[in-house]
Amino acid sequence: MREGRRSTSAFAAFAAALAVVAVALVLAGCAGRGDGPPPIVKGSSCARCGMAIEDLKFATTREVGAKWRAYDSIECLVADRAGQEGGPAWLTDYESKRLLPESAAWVLHGDFPSPMGGGLAAFADRAAAESLAVATHGAVTRLAELPPAGSTP
Ligand SMILES: [Zn+2]
Repeated sequence: MREGRRSTSAFAAFAAALAVVAVALVLAGCAGRGDGPPPIVKGSSCARCGMAIEDLKFATTREVGAKWRAYDSIECLVADRAGQEGGPAWLTDYESKRLLPESAAWVLHGDFPSPMGGGLAAFADRAAAESLAVATHGAVTRLAELPPAGSTP
């Protein structure tokens, strides 16, 4: 009787320890995504043109040195990157407003208003970008394939 109770409580302790490990793993998994950029703050100024970042749908960021630079537009990011190397860029998904690494982003270059007038927006979903490209007489490409002269400061 006593033996049985002891092994039951040993099992309970083991199960509790497993639960702690599981929670720790989940937390570690979340923390592991910390190598992405900090959120872009609405109203902060663009590292390229100095204008306030008002429309987060077009905001972009990249790491230069140990600092994140935020831009009001893809145009400014492209222009700034042409003059100074840095880490990979992150673009805002036009639909969800989540930041995407440039390798996962489709860039629409079309005839529609964007903060610096370049007509550039980023999408996680290629089909969404393609359908807007048809509507705006544009084309879908990757950030790396855009011409370097995205905007003039
Ligand atoms: Zn700008």
